[in-house]
Amino acid sequence: MSDLPARNKEAVNWRSDFVVMKFGGTSVEDAAAIRRVSQLVRRQRRYRPIVVVSALAEVTDQLVTAGKSAAEGKRESAKEILERLRQRHAEVAAELLSADEHKSLCSQLERAFQLLHTLIDSIAADGQFAPRVQDLSSKLLSFAFLASGLEAAWVDARQCIITDAAHTRATPLWEETNQRVESVLLPLLQTGRVPVLGGFVGSTRDGIPTTLGRGGSDFSAAIVGAALGAQRIEIWTDVDGVMTTDPDLCVDARLIEKMSFDEAAELAYFGAKVLHPATLLPAMRHDIPVWVRNSRNPECSGTEILAHTSDDIEVKAISVKRGVASVDVEPLRWLAPELVREVCDVFERHHYSLDLLSASRGSLSVLVSTTAALPAIAEELQGLAKVRWKNHQALVCLVGEKIRRRPDIASRVFRAISDIDVRMICQGASERNISFLVDESKAEEAVQRLHRLFFPPEKVQPLDDSSHALCQAGESWV
Ligand code: ADP
Ligand code: MG
Repeated sequence: MSDLPARNKEAVNWRSDFVVMKFGGTSVEDAAAIRRVSQLVRRQRRYRPIVVVSALAEVTDQLVTAGKSAAEGKRESAKEILERLRQRHAEVAAELLSADEHKSLCSQLERAFQLLHTLIDSIAADGQFAPRVQDLSSKLLSFAFLASGLEAAWVDARQCIITDAAHTRATPLWEETNQRVESVLLPLLQTGRVPVLGGFVGSTRDGIPTTLGRGGSDFSAAIVGAALGAQRIEIWTDVDGVMTTDPDLCVDARLIEKMSFDEAAELAYFGAKVLHPATLLPAMRHDIPVWVRNSRNPECSGTEILAHTSDDIEVKAISVKRGVASVDVEPLRWLAPELVREVCDVFERHHYSLDLLSASRGSLSVLVSTTAALPAIAEELQGLAKVRWKNHQALVCLVGEKIRRRPDIASRVFRAISDIDVRMICQGASERNISFLVDESKAEEAVQRLHRLFFPPEKVQPLDDSSHALCQAGESWV
């Protein structure tokens, strides 16, 4: 990330009062959710919001399914999926918009879906689909804003976020992106309008659409926030904020009120999907606080992520990354440094990012998230090393700035799960985490036990003073 250029504060001296508000799929899943979003944005109007929005909930997954069906020659089922998606968008639009607005949006909707049908006929790759439908949620939202009296302006994110050509995992070209974001969004903001952009998409210099990877709308919000030097970046989602663990996994998961950029980045990297791992980098670089908040429960002040926190909490959160495979590379002779380099090169050539690497005299182990290219990698290393892998593993990770100061944490962790088979224990690569590998089937149990250990259920508290949350947020939502 060292290539992120420093922003020129003087060149853009109006900056301190912009807020980027990103809404995830569940925050715009239906008409009621979109109405809530309109209200939230209206209430933040004095901060000059810029809105970034994902596709409607589950749309991306369904498009991927349609793409795969098309690839397998099942065009009819792919088209059925598209038809259901078209209907869903049309129904949500009908509920929110006046007849004229509805007509105007629907003609755009028809065009987008016609294009998708053509794509089904001609291509099979999943990534090609997403950008076109991503537009629909942002267009729908800007229409809904207008209908609710907010001066919205739909912005084509591809005009703003300029990336390299690595489709599905594109990286922004920062200088150009910053310039574009400023030149497209500033005039709108200066005339009091609320720009609305689809997340997740960008384009190359030549205008070819690209995508930033799953969950990439968080990243889009951070890119825009950093380009404008926003006062804060708000990630609005379906949970109260970053929690001590995934609330789907553990009912006792608690809200974390404040955490550092490093802690949040570590957590995102190690599987907490509440934040896309790349989100924090631009925010960190420009020291812009990131808030994670619940669009269904705006009374809750959420999680504030900032450069430093001063609390004494040793373990802040526990994450789990499933679907991991551990790969053992055993050299036929010995593990020479050249072999380590060669192994890393081979994985890179096959576009693998290695999650964790551990080496001993006799072998090298790495973690990967997909096994697709492993047979090819094994073949390339033939004659140098034997490659074996084990699927269905999960990486459990404890995160906290203070972990480094508490050597007893590791022993408490492994005592609590002493009957669970643990591999690839790693502490110290980053001082902020302890991570280890377990069988995927044991991950939930391990996380729950560790959560009980570090976050024992609280005794019943006297009634919470919710005005505290309201004060912190500086808002009244009633
Ligand atoms: P969005 O559609 O708003 O981007 P995501 O589904 O990507 O939302 O992320 C929110 C989800 O992340 C939550 O519903 C929750 O299940 C999951 N999650 C995983 N780990 C955590 C965590 N530590 N704190 C909060 N949510 C988490
Ligand atoms: Mg997300």
